[in-house]
Amino acid sequence: MSASMTSSEPIPDSPSVYGSDTIETIGGQPVSNEAIMPVMAANPSDAQAYPYAVIGAGPSGLAAARNLQRYDVPWRGYELADGVGGLWNIDGPRSTVYDSAHLISSKRTTEFAEFPMADRVADYPSHRELFDYFNDFADAFGLRAGFSFGTEVLSARPAEDGDGWLVTTPTGEHRHAGVIAANGTLSEPAVPTFPGHFDGEVLHTSAYKSPSIFAGKRVLIIGAGNSGCDIAVDAVHHAASVDMSVRRGYYFVPKYLFGKPADTLNQGRPLPPRIKQAIDTRVLKMFTGDPVRFGFPKPDYKIYESHPIVNTLVLHHLGHGDLQIRPDVEAWDGAGVRFRDGTRDDYDLIVLATGYHLHYPYLDPQLLRWSGSGSAPDLYLNIFTQEDPNLFVMGMIEASGIGWQGRYEQAELIAAYLRARHDAPAAAADFERRIAGPRPDLSGGYHYLGIERMAYYVNKDAYRTAVRAEIDRLRVSQGATP
Ligand SMILES: Cc1cc2nc3c(=O)[nH]c(=O)nc-3n(C[C@H](O)[C@H](O)[C@H](O)COP(=O)(O)OP(=O)(O)OC[C@H]3O[C@@H](n4cnc5c(N)ncnc54)[C@H](O)[C@@H]3O)c2cc1C
Repeated sequence: MSASMTSSEPIPDSPSVYGSDTIETIGGQPVSNEAIMPVMAANPSDAQAYPYAVIGAGPSGLAAARNLQRYDVPWRGYELADGVGGLWNIDGPRSTVYDSAHLISSKRTTEFAEFPMADRVADYPSHRELFDYFNDFADAFGLRAGFSFGTEVLSARPAEDGDGWLVTTPTGEHRHAGVIAANGTLSEPAVPTFPGHFDGEVLHTSAYKSPSIFAGKRVLIIGAGNSGCDIAVDAVHHAASVDMSVRRGYYFVPKYLFGKPADTLNQGRPLPPRIKQAIDTRVLKMFTGDPVRFGFPKPDYKIYESHPIVNTLVLHHLGHGDLQIRPDVEAWDGAGVRFRDGTRDDYDLIVLATGYHLHYPYLDPQLLRWSGSGSAPDLYLNIFTQEDPNLFVMGMIEASGIGWQGRYEQAELIAAYLRARHDAPAAAADFERRIAGPRPDLSGGYHYLGIERMAYYVNKDAYRTAVRAEIDRLRVSQGATP
């Protein structure tokens, strides 16, 4: 191959050897693997003759499936829900979106580059439009038939006989060449404990769907992350009163600046952190003012050292007196809550907007070099473990503005590596040395807060540059010019 290619173009001349068109039965559903599951290896004893298992059909799982398809790597997907879309499928069993949920990054910075959203779609689409988008994406590339829906992966482990991996679902054990874990990062609630007890209702944001639950209630929301702020804005229209307990200050970014989606500005070459922080802090002061005026603590960190809150309606409602900021909780005391400043109040409903834990219950954490809750797996580029060359994690990135294209590029790197193992073993071996080597700095020079959610946080520019550079290296080794 000598054509000049960018990393999002299809691979021409891939030496695919199509496998048999046998119909396998997985999850009770007959699934044809014709056309979508070419076999990479002529040698049937090669573990790569088995398909890779993609776990999850959310944005990350779909990106994985699509890129394995592009690079002619056989795959088969398992999805717990009855369709694609991940957490954007509000009816999915692990979905944590709610009726009022919309993107907080705008559509053009979030969409898959090869599948732009239609012009008629709003700048910040609702979960319903996103669900349609992922269904259209799956259909446009014929991905749906490769997934077994309604099928939870219960365990995945390297086979004891050394021949690939074994993936267990309720219908049995399935042999695979390896596993791509794309089961999301925002589904397993982090539920803190507080001294004392509370007699009212307690709900984690993961279980919140509709604001009707607030009708006439005195509500306390603990935490002011993006979901917490969205839910506070919902609650003010229904509840008797709404308080929000916060531990630290936040930076509130408007969805629009100068009449354009805020994240579409400044898309050129990234500015050095100090300059960007200084400029954006000034811009925010001009547009949203000082959140301390509304009762928030002053942030003890600089902008972009934690995930910004893309919501100014919360400030609007604070300005209207519909919402009150309270300090950190000291204890629950029966009918209400005592706060660290010595004040207390009675509540009917406490909403825990306290975030999520990473959750890979079907994998041995040692394979991910992971000590569990509070930390993140130690993975090269947040994807590759040095414990097993056939295990990959997709979507384990938090970043401002990384979008689904950032996840798509992760998937392309996995696919390019698997293809290189076959077509360019020297380049693949080189890449494996980097997997085993020191971790690159993906912070972009920002000093992130030492909290659980930031354990796998990356700077989008630093991260995408590093991932694209690896894709280009692997592709050049296969004959493409970058
Ligand atoms: C309210 C809200 C707003 C958000 N806004 C944005 C935004 O503006 N921009 C942005 O980029 N991101 C946003 N996100 C982040 C969101 O996580 C990503 O957009 C995206 O959904 C991540 O995709 P994913 O495929 O990695 O995970 P998910 O979408 O969570 O999909 C994971 C899939 O894996 C399945 N699954 C889980 N366990 C198993 C198992 N054992 N076996 C089989 N299947 C399994 C689940 O059913 C699910 O379908 C938002 C999240 C929330 C909750």
